[in-house]
Amino acid sequence: MPKIIDGKTISAQIKEELKEKVAAMKKGGTSVCLAVIQVGNDPASSVYVNNKKKACAYVGIDSLSYELPENTAQEELLQLIGELNDRKDVNGILVQLPLPGHIDEDAVIRSIDPKKDVDGFHPQSVGALCIGQKGFVSCTPAGIIQLLKRSGIEIAGKECVIIGRSNIVGKPMALLLLKENGTVTVCHSKTKDLKEITRRADILVVAIGKPKMITREYVKAGAVVIDVGIHRNENNKLCGDVDYDDVAPVCSAITPVPGGVGPMTIAMLMNNCVESITLNS
Ligand code: NAD
Repeated sequence: MPKIIDGKTISAQIKEELKEKVAAMKKGGTSVCLAVIQVGNDPASSVYVNNKKKACAYVGIDSLSYELPENTAQEELLQLIGELNDRKDVNGILVQLPLPGHIDEDAVIRSIDPKKDVDGFHPQSVGALCIGQKGFVSCTPAGIIQLLKRSGIEIAGKECVIIGRSNIVGKPMALLLLKENGTVTVCHSKTKDLKEITRRADILVVAIGKPKMITREYVKAGAVVIDVGIHRNENNKLCGDVDYDDVAPVCSAITPVPGGVGPMTIAMLMNNCVESITLNS
């Protein structure tokens, strides 16, 4: 049977390490503060925002919460972000996505000071990642690198195939695996012969957004499979983009859903908040 890559345990370890770091920083007179902005009251977003605030409290990061009504004007949101950009006591700014349709998400992301862009979505952060300079890295792919490293999985020289080319997962994932000296291929909805390409992968990262699409025909025997997808099936149970029961017997290591990639995203957000102090000093 494969090794189960335990995101719950690894994310808990990371949060413990950060808790110690934050306590030591506090002793030295430095505190960390994250401002979280939510526009509207989408229930899924509220759950994510609450989990982020809870994680901040656990690690010892101060959090400021801004809950704005659904009909907030874009200008009003940009003004708040401008104020938070100017505040010396705020180290990170997070705007929970998606935003209501009348607000231009790209304009909002661009308005965040790259020094406070703890989500790593600002074009400057993405550009820095692309050319190997310092900057914030998108939390989900950064978490996947931690999962691999802390599970003792070598990346250098490996055939790494990513399915999905989104700005928040697929593309930064490709850049991070490349930085770790993997040989990287990115597949997407227009890729021909998908199975042929994915069957070459030593490390297969799946971020498609289609429940259980990846079955064992897509996977080389002994591959490491990372499932980013998260869905509720017909019985209201969580599942990923990978058909876990079908794929697990043929691979060497796999992330479960839930308890794989999911918990890492918030742990890496906390990491980015703490890093904001060193990145900007
Ligand atoms: P997205 O919808 O932005 O991108 C999906 C990508 O999959 C696209 O690039 C598309 O080209 C590709 N794709 C779609 N159909 C395909 C097909 N048939 N064959 C090959 N490629 C195909 O999604 P995303 O934001 O990258 O998220 C992907 C999944 O990961 C979703 O289920 C999302 O909920 C989940 N997610 C989880 C976390 C987490 O913290 N666990 C974070 C972000 C996203």
